Amino acid sequence: MISTEVLFRLVRGPVVVAEPLATYTAIRTGGPADFMVNPRDRADLVRACDYFSRQGVPLFILGKGSSLLVNDQGFRGAVIATRLLDRIAIEDEIAEVDAGVLLPVLLERLRQASLTGLDAFDTMSGSVGGALRRNAEGGSAEVIDSVEWIDIVRKGRLRRLKRRELSVGSTLPLAGEEVILGAGFRLRRISSKEKRECRQETGGNAVPSPAEGISVKVFRTPRTLSTDEDASPGELVEACGLRGKRIGGASLSLTDANTIVNAGGASSNDVFELVRLLRVSVQEKFGVKLNLELTLVGFNRNGCDDPFRT
Ligand SMILES: Cc1cc2nc3c(=O)[nH]c(=O)nc-3n(C[C@H](O)[C@H](O)[C@H](O)COP(=O)(O)OP(=O)(O)OC[C@H]3O[C@@H](n4cnc5c(N)ncnc54)[C@H](O)[C@@H]3O)c2cc1C
Repeated sequence: MISTEVLFRLVRGPVVVAEPLATYTAIRTGGPADFMVNPRDRADLVRACDYFSRQGVPLFILGKGSSLLVNDQGFRGAVIATRLLDRIAIEDEIAEVDAGVLLPVLLERLRQASLTGLDAFDTMSGSVGGALRRNAEGGSAEVIDSVEWIDIVRKGRLRRLKRRELSVGSTLPLAGEEVILGAGFRLRRISSKEKRECRQETGGNAVPSPAEGISVKVFRTPRTLSTDEDASPGELVEACGLRGKRIGGASLSLTDANTIVNAGGASSNDVFELVRLLRVSVQEKFGVKLNLELTLVGFNRNGCDDPFRT
């Protein structure tokens, strides 16, 4: 059984009991977690994970929450938030970055240091840990392309996975329960001339995705689109005539049919049912089974990527 006394003594960062999770997610829905722990550093995180694992308490790692749908009943377990793991150390052309660092913060630091290599992720708002977990894609680049190593906790032990252990195509060799502590990225120093040209091309600053806000991207766009007309998930959904479809407070974005918006007072169940409708409609019309970008928390199985899977 969990002793809050032990927990408060063990973990240096803030620990909260029965913490509502809605405000930690981009879509702003979902119930409470039994425990929410905000480790101050890597050692703190390892101690917290170890304690909960030994007590048999399910764990969920929270980054920025941009890809999460938390059950309205919440999560029966402990959420470990990485937001205080925010260290960035740059040496020559290598940046060692903690998992909780947000991509826009990292990219700004790299710009200041005249380093390039992760610019393709300019419009993404998630954490480094979340991007690595999902092997985020920006255009034709994958975040793994620039990784030299990833530090993880595997079965309670720290491990550094080197680049050669990660070269397995677009899938990271990480199991669901492994926690990413941080990573090393190999970058390239650019000249002042290149930097000026780069600024002119992008208008100086990253352009936020228009779909950002109280919304979530639903399906993962396959790297190689394999449908007859190479349609993206959003195009397939549109072709089913579902543009603007609404269930309760959840509606399909009018500008991107692969994004669900919390139009006001949505529950996670509204979002879930809308996702189910999109998925079933596309499968029936095109025979295409769309993969979720969303991570579902506290649904069929905690943290399961796809509870529709049979
Ligand atoms: C509007 C919008 C646009 C998007 N565009 C893109 C895009 O162009 N390309 C793309 O690839 N993705 C895109 N995404 C998806 C999303 O931004 C990425 O998956 C993002 O990197 C998730 O980061 P996060 O910190 O928000 O993770 P969260 O949503 O907090 O978590 C996502 C998953 O990662 C796990 N996780 C988080 N941190 C860790 C850690 N330290 N260790 C282990 N597991 C961890 C969580 O447990 C969960 O399973 C988009 C999302 C939105 C809302």
